[in-house]
Amino acid sequence: MKLLLLGPPAAGKGTQAEKLVERYRIPTISTGAIFRKAMEQMTPSGKLAKEYIDKGQLVPDDVTIAIVRERLAEDDCKNGYILDGFPRTLPQAQAADDMGIQFDKVILIDVADEEVVRRISGRRQCGECGAVYHIDDNPSEKVSLCDKCGGTLVTRDDDTEETVKIRLEVYHSQTEPLIRFYREKGNLVTVKGQKEVEHTTEMLFQALDK
Ligand code: AMP
Repeated sequence: MKLLLLGPPAAGKGTQAEKLVERYRIPTISTGAIFRKAMEQMTPSGKLAKEYIDKGQLVPDDVTIAIVRERLAEDDCKNGYILDGFPRTLPQAQAADDMGIQFDKVILIDVADEEVVRRISGRRQCGECGAVYHIDDNPSEKVSLCDKCGGTLVTRDDDTEETVKIRLEVYHSQTEPLIRFYREKGNLVTVKGQKEVEHTTEMLFQALDK
């Protein structure tokens, strides 16, 4: 099973990927999470990625493609995977094709720009395990603490008002063309992102079972 989650920032790709992991028992590969870990560890690729991520720009295709190629060669990917956040540009989609990746389904989680801005301003992430919350829609039980591991919840450095505007522009200009790319391949399904995480998951599972 190979799945791709497409959608604007804060559409819920990471959150829904967690649900898909439970259902299909395959790993989720999030390029954003890989970059955040590399930035934390201050590796050369992390330092380079930071220059782009902090500005709301995309990390260059060659760097991103190389990282994904390496990750997908690992053992846990042999029965399939869920890609969250890659491909995000047409050259990346072409590279995925060239790697022989054929997605069973490409799932577009559709969320309007105003909703993206609202979601990002309330998004909090666990600094330890990466679990994602929203102060109104999906709050943790204890304020500022992760339900899963007790880690401290933080706001991502790139979740600022200014950066969100740029990330939305980048999404519309560079990532949205992928919708047509995959629609033409015939494997695109669209799920409208709901306020309640569970409702989106329900619609997602229905779309995958069709
Ligand atoms: P995300 O966690 O998916 O929102 O990604 C956070 C940031 O990482 C993005 O705003 C980009 O700067 C960078 N990033 C993640 N995935 C990619 C990708 N496939 N290509 C280029 N940059 C990416």
